[in-house]
Amino acid sequence: MNVPLVLTEFLDRAVLLYGGKTAVYCGDRAFTYRELNGRVNRLSYGLKNLGIEKGDRVAYLAPNTVEMLEGFYGIFQLGAVMVPLNIRLTPEDYRFILNHSGSKVLFVDQEMYHLIEPVKDELETVEQIIIHYKEDNCAEIDYDRWLDRFPPDPFPRAGLDENDVCSLLYTSGTTGNPKGVMLTHRNNYLHALSAMHHLRVTDRDVYLHVLPMFHVNGWGSPFYYTANGATHVCLRKPSAEAIFTEIIRHNVTVVHMAPTVLNSLLQYNAEHHPAIEQDVRVVIAGAAPPPAFVERVEKELGWEFIQVYGMTESTPLTLVSVIRSQLGGLDRDTQLRLRAKAGFPMIGSDVRVLRENDEEVAHDGKEIGEVTVRGHGVMLGYWKNPEETMKTIRNGRLYTGDMATVDEYGYIDIVDRKKDIIISGGENISSIEVEGVLYEHPAVLEAAVIAVPHEKWGETPHAFVVRKADAAATEEDIIRFSRERLAHFKAVTGVTFVDELPKTASGKIQKVRLRNEYWEKLGKTERFV
Ligand code: ATP
Ligand code: MG
Repeated sequence: MNVPLVLTEFLDRAVLLYGGKTAVYCGDRAFTYRELNGRVNRLSYGLKNLGIEKGDRVAYLAPNTVEMLEGFYGIFQLGAVMVPLNIRLTPEDYRFILNHSGSKVLFVDQEMYHLIEPVKDELETVEQIIIHYKEDNCAEIDYDRWLDRFPPDPFPRAGLDENDVCSLLYTSGTTGNPKGVMLTHRNNYLHALSAMHHLRVTDRDVYLHVLPMFHVNGWGSPFYYTANGATHVCLRKPSAEAIFTEIIRHNVTVVHMAPTVLNSLLQYNAEHHPAIEQDVRVVIAGAAPPPAFVERVEKELGWEFIQVYGMTESTPLTLVSVIRSQLGGLDRDTQLRLRAKAGFPMIGSDVRVLRENDEEVAHDGKEIGEVTVRGHGVMLGYWKNPEETMKTIRNGRLYTGDMATVDEYGYIDIVDRKKDIIISGGENISSIEVEGVLYEHPAVLEAAVIAVPHEKWGETPHAFVVRKADAAATEEDIIRFSRERLAHFKAVTGVTFVDELPKTASGKIQKVRLRNEYWEKLGKTERFV
């Protein structure tokens, strides 16, 4: 008979095999797996006491803390559903998500409470708010004091089925309103097995949480690092300095981040040269960095670079780049390209790149089609949104909205989001490719390229650039630089210098916002509005 594939098993294993080992460092606090499990049990009893039952939604608004980590398992033991909230939203967004998800209990980190307070009275289903680290005379329940009221003893598990929904994860909102993605225990369990294989997770790993646990890019790390008895290091505010400090302090071996954060580490490293002795693997998630990045990361930081691709709706990871040991015999440029880009399907994912008529594109590294996924990671659907679900999952395949090519070996190279591609004189231009060239300019700290209207060509690429401190490059310099390195139709036709670029909580640049503002100023409507 089959054993249900449920996530509670991962912590059980860690407690059995690694009970006395440090499970998590969080600021100045440290807990062994046994202690963490005790806190998880208290939490489950506490939630039961608040009337939480199987299927109920429980929301979390917190940065990377031990409270967030234990939240997952405390909720799962009851068969309830974790609704992690992005910490960079507005009070109105929280009202929307909390009401839309029908969350009954909300855990809030004290530093985030001011974001909830303005809409507190408009929460239709939240019956209890519990604050991590409460200040005196706050009306809500204080987490630690509340947790202490319940026993650390084993919690009688709700009958869990692997097809039960365990999390309701709202998408990043990079391209519009967030949608609630329903993922099951089975989705997450099999994703964790696949991720731990491809990322080579072992009990010797020390994992630094830079990507937020509430977000799909950091998603699954509470599961697959726990299942292997690795040690978690929680980081509240991941500045470059804090990241290096924690890596050195705890001998971190693996860290996941967005390319924008990695960029800030390269910059910090060039200025401060922090001494890191152990080998570090850096897993780059969420967006494609230019190939020159891989080389810099290896030369300047000495870290192993792993690229992954995925989306909330696919639980998330489905593609992983080629790793160093698989590259024997290839020239340097090919090696860098293969490692910077998305890669090959992970175990259990059938990823195909399709034309509009659903035929596969030619495997020639040139023809562009939409990435589609079938396999254990495909979500159950969008919560309360059957229309969007039907648009996104068709004939059992998930349509990602991302465009890619496939080469003769089956290597999948993400070109761009459908919506970010610039269509100039009938040619498709990848905004990612143009950005890759701009990043090679010595004055460029960050760059985002969008489509802007053009009378003759329809659209042309326009760059938003953040210059490095003291760098004085002009618009003409940047345009010339891009013309020297790209086919002329791909070169940028204008540059706007800005102090910072709009980003999502995981560090993704929100090109949709740049586009909307640019087009609105001109009084025009862009293709996707
Ligand atoms: P929303 O769907 O709300 O607009 P979002 O698509 O950014 O937001 P996520 O599910 O967090 O929400 O992000 C998944 C997307 O991130 C993918 O669809 C893809 O566009 C991008 N992405 C992820 N990994 C990579 C990668 N390795 N290379 C390029 N793009 C990537
Ligand atoms: Mg998306």
